[in-house]
Amino acid sequence: MEKQISNADLLAYLDEMLTEERSAEVEQLLRETPQLQERLLELTRNRDTGQRSIGEVWRRHGLSCPSRSELTSYVLSILEPARTDYIKFHLDNVGCRVCQANLDDLKSLQQTLTESPESETRRSRYFESSAGLLRSQRDDE
Ligand SMILES: [Zn+2]
Repeated sequence: MEKQISNADLLAYLDEMLTEERSAEVEQLLRETPQLQERLLELTRNRDTGQRSIGEVWRRHGLSCPSRSELTSYVLSILEPARTDYIKFHLDNVGCRVCQANLDDLKSLQQTLTESPESETRRSRYFESSAGLLRSQRDDE
């Protein structure tokens, strides 16, 4: 069965004018279809929304954020291509800062794990001592 989504549907989706059922359907298709995501972006660009960005819209719909385990797979490059594209889109086009921060976190974690245990210990010691330093400096103020 082929599901068709018109631009009017997409706009209605953005405006939360769809029924819950239809909205869920559109959302599902958006997740699965990069082309549809592009179309939604186009529509938003062409429409003068005035106050909201696509990022806000996506966040508001909770559409955008992949799970942390998915981000982990993304960092490790073991995610299926469709999801990889989705996350790329989410980071680059939607510009989600939450996921970007998560991603940075995971990357540094991965780096830590691939480093030798010795250097990791050294680094965490360094981190602890500089954190202690920061704390004492703040206390002095
Ligand atoms: Zn996100």
